Amino acid sequence: MGAVRVGVLALQGAFAAHAEVLEGLGAEVSEVRVPGDLARLSGLVMPGGESTTMSKLLVSSGLFVALGKRLSQGFPVFGTCAGMILLAARVLDGRPDQQSFAALDVTVRRNAYGRQVDSFEADLSVTGLNAPFPAVFIRAPLITELGGGVQVLARHEAQPVLVRQGSVMAASFHPELTGDGRLHELFLSEI
Ligand code: GLN
Repeated sequence: MGAVRVGVLALQGAFAAHAEVLEGLGAEVSEVRVPGDLARLSGLVMPGGESTTMSKLLVSSGLFVALGKRLSQGFPVFGTCAGMILLAARVLDGRPDQQSFAALDVTVRRNAYGRQVDSFEADLSVTGLNAPFPAVFIRAPLITELGGGVQVLARHEAQPVLVRQGSVMAASFHPELTGDGRLHELFLSEI
């Protein structure tokens, strides 16, 4: 059996670090910028960055429609930070024209961790991992509402920060910046 073929949405943001982690785990990684790039992929990572900019680029590239269709068919995806915002069913404090895929039944509030704590690190206890995971939060979104079908895999100060619903996994933090590949490994193991 060959390596898992996984894409990294590469319109904007922290996609290179994700690709590096995935390659380190033995995956065959390709960057996704146009609808044709989705062909033959088993899953996709949507990175952190700026969700408003990514939303615009998703629409102008044609990926919003193409990826939305794949997601509605159960295409496995791991969205981190801005990537989680793009997957959410409801976005608070977004731009009025900001689009999201509604693939994950949560409400998120953008930049909810406040300006004083723009960025922080925390060790998270994650369901299925036997040692804490070092998470980096950068102007992170907060999940303010969880649908019934959404499983919480980790919390920070009681708030859900890592969730899963079917083939959709999402983190409000950046898991790609600390050299710990266990969440990417978890994602790859399920696709
Ligand atoms: N605040 C960003 C947004 O709304 C997300 C931050 C991040 O991805 N690190 O897109």
